[in-house]
Amino acid sequence: MSAAAQRVVIIGAGQAGGQTAYSLRQAGFAGTITLIGDEPAPPYQRPPLSKAYFKGEMDAERLFLKPLEYYAEHQVDLITGKAATAIDLAAKQVRLDDGETLAWDRLVIATGARPRRLSVEGADLRNIAELRTLADVDHLKKVAMPGARLVVVGAGYIGLEAAAVGVQLGLKVTVLEAMPQVLSRVAGPEIGAFYTHIHREAGTDIRLGARLEAFEGIGQVTGVRIQGGEIIPADLVLVGVGVLPNLELALEAGLVCGNGIVVDADMRTSDPDVFAAGDVAWRPLSHYGREGRLESVHNAIEGGKIVAAAIMGLPAPVLDVPWFWSDQFDLKLQTAGLWTGADETLVRGDPQSRAFAVFYLKEGRVIAVDAVNSAPEYIVGKKLVASQARVAPGELVDKSISMKDIGARALG
Ligand SMILES: Cc1cc2nc3c(=O)[nH]c(=O)nc-3n(C[C@H](O)[C@H](O)[C@H](O)COP(=O)(O)OP(=O)(O)OC[C@H]3O[C@@H](n4cnc5c(N)ncnc54)[C@H](O)[C@@H]3O)c2cc1C
Repeated sequence: MSAAAQRVVIIGAGQAGGQTAYSLRQAGFAGTITLIGDEPAPPYQRPPLSKAYFKGEMDAERLFLKPLEYYAEHQVDLITGKAATAIDLAAKQVRLDDGETLAWDRLVIATGARPRRLSVEGADLRNIAELRTLADVDHLKKVAMPGARLVVVGAGYIGLEAAAVGVQLGLKVTVLEAMPQVLSRVAGPEIGAFYTHIHREAGTDIRLGARLEAFEGIGQVTGVRIQGGEIIPADLVLVGVGVLPNLELALEAGLVCGNGIVVDADMRTSDPDVFAAGDVAWRPLSHYGREGRLESVHNAIEGGKIVAAAIMGLPAPVLDVPWFWSDQFDLKLQTAGLWTGADETLVRGDPQSRAFAVFYLKEGRVIAVDAVNSAPEYIVGKKLVASQARVAPGELVDKSISMKDIGARALG
């Protein structure tokens, strides 16, 4: 690693890129910071895009992570509407799409991820939308008229949140999921079954095991054909089938990449002066003794803070367990930890009451919790996850024992 860091260039003005800039300034970094974003907006939070903002309950300015004045006041040179097109590691330069080159001492790649596209017949028809950016939602809001038929492809968090808003806006919604369960990538079958029920109760036609074959229409989508030949009529389709990390710049520059840009505990890439954070980073997951790529606000904020500390030569911040949330109808789902690898599942409370929690255990230790409208289960559960505590299963499912007491006994 070279000595002085006078110039930091950050590619990607999103949650992780913005956080890196804020944390650098907060820690007293005195050099120049250039934050390059290819979207027209300053760094903003994406979660409301499939929730309150889509529903029309939030203004665009409230999405911004910092007011516009922040950047001038804190000498963060924010460049919007321009993409970085190449990284030269040897010359320590970044090229932008208008031909400009920027020199750096430390480079941060926080380019996020983009929606995965389906390569099926008709995929380029009009009114087939995706949901990643402010521009995507502004477009959706224009075409999502009450009474319109919306088909959501993919029952992950974003698809289900959009489906919930769609129903609330008066659309006729169908959700197509290829797997036998909704949220299959991110939660266990109990949570999947609960959300399937909730959406069906609200009037959404949830189709499980539905394999998409083609989009129908001339110019504009009019239907979605699924395996078996059925055509589901559609005025609007939202495709939410996961994302791909934007790692091409890093790959072309010669940085080590897998399903993300490979970084160490300091979020440092295979080049010691280059860092990566957020959705694009393949990072050590210290609580789980393995590596992975996370797609969450927590991960983007934590990554930005780690990068800033590493650039400043400060100790890394204390790491939190991965956490996430999802709002659908009147339900707040809060998740802590990663459930994959669990060998036991315990349900606390009755899903019919719309307030319950699912604890995931591995070899008797709590590795994750999904809490629906259950703040104490989430708060204490997160602590249990952080210390991978052992709990007596009988106690955890016994609602007459408070989470506070369970936590006190398990955590000492
Ligand atoms: C609709 C939606 C709902 C979500 N809900 C939740 C939620 O409830 N809870 C939660 O924890 N997480 C949620 N997430 C995930 C969370 O928003 C992301 O994990 C987070 O935004 C990742 O931050 P990031 O900085 O890595 O990427 P981003 O925020 O995507 O920022 C990356 C930025 O880099 C830009 N960029 C890419 N390439 C270039 C280039 N070459 N040059 C310049 N700029 C470039 C991109 O356009 C983008 O603006 C949601 C995401 C979406 C889309």
